[in-house]
Amino acid sequence: MPGMDDGRPAAPTRGRMLLRGCLKRCPVCGQGHLFRRWFHRIDRCPRCGLRFERIEGHWTGDLGLNTIVSFSALFLTLIVGFALTYPDIPAVLLFLLAVGVALVVPVVFFPFSKTIWLAIDLMMRPLDPDEVRPAYRRSAEALGRRVT
Ligand SMILES: [Zn+2]
Repeated sequence: MPGMDDGRPAAPTRGRMLLRGCLKRCPVCGQGHLFRRWFHRIDRCPRCGLRFERIEGHWTGDLGLNTIVSFSALFLTLIVGFALTYPDIPAVLLFLLAVGVALVVPVVFFPFSKTIWLAIDLMMRPLDPDEVRPAYRRSAEALGRRVT
């Protein structure tokens, strides 16, 4: 099977972890279906066993990421709206469009912010072998920590 050596999965690269995060998948093993509903994620990856809330306060990162993306989308909407309609700027229409972006983007991006942040967190704070099932400990070793 591609990506496997002696029956154990190969460690994902940073790019692959980030791509998996962008696809709402587990950055370590690529498992999908991590959310029961749009806002309700499961606690652990069913395949590799990674607990998604790695430390207390872990999710402040995805909140920050969602805020940055939402404000960027809002800013871009306003800038493009001004640029395309100048000098006859339709203020009410642009305001309603901005409100729509401000309401929709954080909701749509919510689950993605969680898995993308998890991938970023794994890049900054490497996986500990004890965080995953034995079959995925090679990933933990390759991502920066040694098994003791
Ligand atoms: Zn996983």
